[in-house]
Amino acid sequence: MMAATLDGRAIAARVRARVAAEVRAAGLAPGLTVVIVGEDPASQVYVRNKAKAAAATGFRAATIALPAETTEAALLAIIARLNADEEVDGILVQLPLPKHIRAEAVIEAIDPAKDVDGFHPVNAGRLAVGRPTLVPCTPKGVMTLLAEAGVTLTGARAVVLGRSAIVGRPMAALLTAADATVTLAHSRTRDLAAECRRAEVLVAAVGRAEMVRGDWIAEGATVIDVGINRRPDGSLVGDVAFAEAAERAAWITPVPGGVGPMTIASLLENTLIAAKARRGLA
Ligand code: NAP
Repeated sequence: MMAATLDGRAIAARVRARVAAEVRAAGLAPGLTVVIVGEDPASQVYVRNKAKAAAATGFRAATIALPAETTEAALLAIIARLNADEEVDGILVQLPLPKHIRAEAVIEAIDPAKDVDGFHPVNAGRLAVGRPTLVPCTPKGVMTLLAEAGVTLTGARAVVLGRSAIVGRPMAALLTAADATVTLAHSRTRDLAAECRRAEVLVAAVGRAEMVRGDWIAEGATVIDVGINRRPDGSLVGDVAFAEAAERAAWITPVPGGVGPMTIASLLENTLIAAKARRGLA
């Protein structure tokens, strides 16, 4: 079998168009403020792309760029101001933060109703107990990709590689909510390859270049590659050896151009959800 490629760029463009149409129809201009601390080049690119996509979708997008020396107290004061600002529907603090700032303290300071990254423990907790909430953007984008591919999740054996709070754990919760039977694997999992071979849906989010080999993939599986790894020559690869895996999978996402674009599309969806909720709309 040769896998069909799931085109994240095209699907993300459709999601963004849907959000833009809803924003226009509702006469809303959701406010999204992205905060970045320091000069990490990858983070700067992500923040620029988020602000650009938000503006192109009819949002009021603002970026607050702070120097690397910003203290935790100063950042918390800015979060408090944004929490109180009626014009701001969504607050996103770009991670990673400089080492002297505790990311957990900053995430917990964000009003859960404006937490469009879905990282606040209140939102993570709601997701864990299966209640509607603001869902982390990357796993949310994966669910949209799976829906677009028409993948049946009810009763499916799903394996998630990686248990981070921002990808693996919420991914497992979303697949569970969609009635899949989920295995959450990590660095202490025994015989990872055997676990993966059982997967009808495999989501890799480990951050190890091409760790998942072709013979780890079940015939006809759906393979979602969240990993973004930079090779010494500067090119990007995922956590899955794409060419090998594509020989066995039914569906596979490329890197780049798979999950990455979906993350920003989900951020726009979350900001619209937050804006509507704050205005008492459905
Ligand atoms: P992370 O916080 O570093 O977590 C990595 C997870 O993978 C951990 O649970 C770790 O297990 C597990 N792991 C590491 N090495 C392993 C191994 N050899 N075998 C089995 N499991 C292993 O990473 P993350 O933030 O979740 O990100 C994962 C990848 O996704 C990265 O490449 C990142 O760049 C990418 N990413 C992409 C997007 C996007 O928009 N496309 C968004 C976010 C992240 P332990 O828990 O046991 O340590």
